[in-house]
Amino acid sequence: MSLAIAFFFIVMITGVLLLEGCAAGQTPDFSAGSPPPTSASSGNDTALSEPNPAMPGDAGSDSIDADDTANDEDPGAAKLLYQGHGSFRITTGEGKVIYVDPYAGEGYDLSADLILITHQHSDHNKIDLITSKNPGCEIITEKNALVGEIHQVFEFGYVVVEAVEAYNKNHNPYECVGYILTFTDGVQLYASGDTSTTTQMETFSTRNLDYALLCCDGTYNMDVKEASECAALIGARHSIPYHIEPGQLFNRERAEQFEAEGRIIVAAGEEIILAGQ
Ligand SMILES: [Zn+2]
Repeated sequence: MSLAIAFFFIVMITGVLLLEGCAAGQTPDFSAGSPPPTSASSGNDTALSEPNPAMPGDAGSDSIDADDTANDEDPGAAKLLYQGHGSFRITTGEGKVIYVDPYAGEGYDLSADLILITHQHSDHNKIDLITSKNPGCEIITEKNALVGEIHQVFEFGYVVVEAVEAYNKNHNPYECVGYILTFTDGVQLYASGDTSTTTQMETFSTRNLDYALLCCDGTYNMDVKEASECAALIGARHSIPYHIEPGQLFNRERAEQFEAEGRIIVAAGEEIILAGQ
């Protein structure tokens, strides 16, 4: 007798739970304003296809949320347009536009958010080529990058800019800088500016830089051989020769003489994606 009563209650409770399960499955359809299911089968299909909200550790819905969040937060990789000589333009994943040493080539048509100048030689500081600047556009030159002999760090939301040493017999260490840029996806890029080997370079090897742009003209700066030695010293994942020959946008023959593990040769006018590791 008692077993029959217990069985009756189990059947009743199971029925109620099943009804609640269907109702829960249908609720989003109603609240979303879509028409209610027109048959029991469509209602059941909806309920079955949806993850059970009572299931602990529901990997399905969690992973979808995580993916969506990652996509929202991932701005994408920055792109570098090598304009020639010592000039390049970076568009960050967020769409911010950074010019470094405007002088050579084409591609000054995008509105600037940040302009970096390494020093005041006439082949590095043609800010007027950039015809449009976005509101709040910042200009950093060696004058504010090197204050009281201290190399400065500038944090913007989309990039961190660190001034670093640059010098040789033609370039005064107190009037010239290089820059290390760190983007929001963690990619780090070093642009040497005009320099020969600096004492700071070997400290860069501990930073696992992703890209190193190294000048190598051999007239005003170190030559290709020394630049190749600097590439080995710095140990960036990719090294790129630039500022290759005085008065020239680019010189492929000399660029090919530059030796480095993970070398990338970028001709004037070419654009590369600054991929992370
Ligand atoms: Zn120069």
